[in-house]
Amino acid sequence: MRIDKFLANTKIGSRKEVKTFLKKGRVSVNGEIIKKDKTQIDPLKDIIAFDGEVIHYSQFEYYMLYKPEGYISATKDDSHPVVCELIPSIHELFPVGRLDIDTTGLLIMTNDGELGHLLTAPKKHIPKVYEVLADGIVNEEDQEVFKKGIPLKDFTTQSSDLRIIEVKENKTKCHVTIHEGKFHQVKRMFVYIKKPVLSLKRIQMGDVKLDSSLKKGEYRPLTTDEINSLY
Ligand code: URA
Repeated sequence: MRIDKFLANTKIGSRKEVKTFLKKGRVSVNGEIIKKDKTQIDPLKDIIAFDGEVIHYSQFEYYMLYKPEGYISATKDDSHPVVCELIPSIHELFPVGRLDIDTTGLLIMTNDGELGHLLTAPKKHIPKVYEVLADGIVNEEDQEVFKKGIPLKDFTTQSSDLRIIEVKENKTKCHVTIHEGKFHQVKRMFVYIKKPVLSLKRIQMGDVKLDSSLKKGEYRPLTTDEINSLY
């Protein structure tokens, strides 16, 4: 990898600023000052320092992203922005699982393929909690239906917990916990009870909760405890 790309991705500065830092002799590789932006480095083997301070590099990165509307949960798309554009990284990050383009909330982003596989494998039923604004008044009968499991076209959902948070102007804010992650699953479950989803936000995956200090489009690294809880 080129040294200027590495430095820019570690957020030391923009690609342009990084070139200036290099010219000024502020960057060393294995103890030697490097001035050329085209210098190739191996982030796993070389010791890279900025102003004498070693830049710590980790092979895997884990983030929680507060996905905004309008972004596709993919690494590339021809017609829409993708979530990967929201987190600059030296690694090729990918989203763990998918949220619809109009769904917001917690998305875990990593370059750890093993974790990605683990969390999306059909047998690993990691609970996911969504905040739903439903069109209509959700009642106890609906809660029973969710508890029993809903027969959708392609499968029957596992028992899911449906909590009513607030009813206002013929709309209900609820929290629903699902154990699978099928296409449009939450939307289809609410269509079944004839109270379609008006807005959908994921607020939790396993024990990892969307950080309330994040705004849409913002992200932060997962803590070690959060990472361990997902494995
Ligand atoms: N269920 C849905 O319907 N959409 C999502 O984005 C996630 C779960």
